[in-house]
Amino acid sequence: MSEFNQPISGNDLARFSGPNTFMRLPQAASLDGLDVAVLGIPMDIGTSWRSGTRFGPKQIRAESAMIRPYNMATGAAPFDSLQIADIGDLAINTFSLADSLRIIRDSYAGILTNDVIPVAMGGDHSITLPILRAIAAKHGPVALVHVDAHADVNDDMFGERETHGTVFRRAYEEGLIQPDRTYQIGIRGTGYAATDFTEAQGWGFRQFPAWDLWHKSLAPLGAEIRREIGDRPVYVTYDIDSLDPAYAPGTGTPEIGGLTTPQALELIHALRGANIVGCDLVEVSPPYDPSGNTALTASNLLYELICVLPGVAAR
Ligand code: MN
Ligand code: MN
Repeated sequence: MSEFNQPISGNDLARFSGPNTFMRLPQAASLDGLDVAVLGIPMDIGTSWRSGTRFGPKQIRAESAMIRPYNMATGAAPFDSLQIADIGDLAINTFSLADSLRIIRDSYAGILTNDVIPVAMGGDHSITLPILRAIAAKHGPVALVHVDAHADVNDDMFGERETHGTVFRRAYEEGLIQPDRTYQIGIRGTGYAATDFTEAQGWGFRQFPAWDLWHKSLAPLGAEIRREIGDRPVYVTYDIDSLDPAYAPGTGTPEIGGLTTPQALELIHALRGANIVGCDLVEVSPPYDPSGNTALTASNLLYELICVLPGVAAR
């Protein structure tokens, strides 16, 4: 028996049964001894177009039941060297975005009193601002790898300064991130103003629009980012709408001309060895995902992110 939690094997218990935890890992009531805590933040009250991401964690967990422990492409064996568990969902207040963001920040502050890496399943992208507030309170301003169709740098939406489209302007203003080590990858689509992307470049953000990445491997870009962030603490936030709607249609604000699934894998694989202090995957909206492919892709990308966390064994 391994000393580390193992996902329930599909050869021991049929994949379509058992607990609805991430990869059918144990659900932990305590953070004691955990290296990685997977959690759900079931929220969609920060969205501006289609809703439904409140069902994201439940569906990502359901699709994750098919994932096996060993990464055949990279050799990563996360369950051989890290204690990983699903710690359930945060008890957000679905009637108040402001209160929910406070709950997320306070919950993360508690989680981060332990030496544990939080891996969040969203939820809409507004969850990342209170997460970064707690992360920066512990680690100081972090490097940020932000994969998304959108820059999420609006000043306000309907006068609201905390929404899924304003996250990274607030994070910049509040000094939660290192602007010259902030990488926005896959941005594209139409803007409210011609300056929507360029203003953030003026803060130091490094932007890699999807159209510059079409038909290319992302391995060189991933390696460049990996080199530049060095051993800085880095947070990875992965908006599923960075992928083309052909791969991930089940999301709130889809944009055509996006990244491919192999590009997503190349980018994540390149981050191995980075000092990742937390990550999230957001904006999976199961009501717009009738095939389950978006949640399946999201669950695999979360697995791939776990495979590049510090301390993961290789086989
Ligand atoms: Mn986003
Ligand atoms: Mn987006």
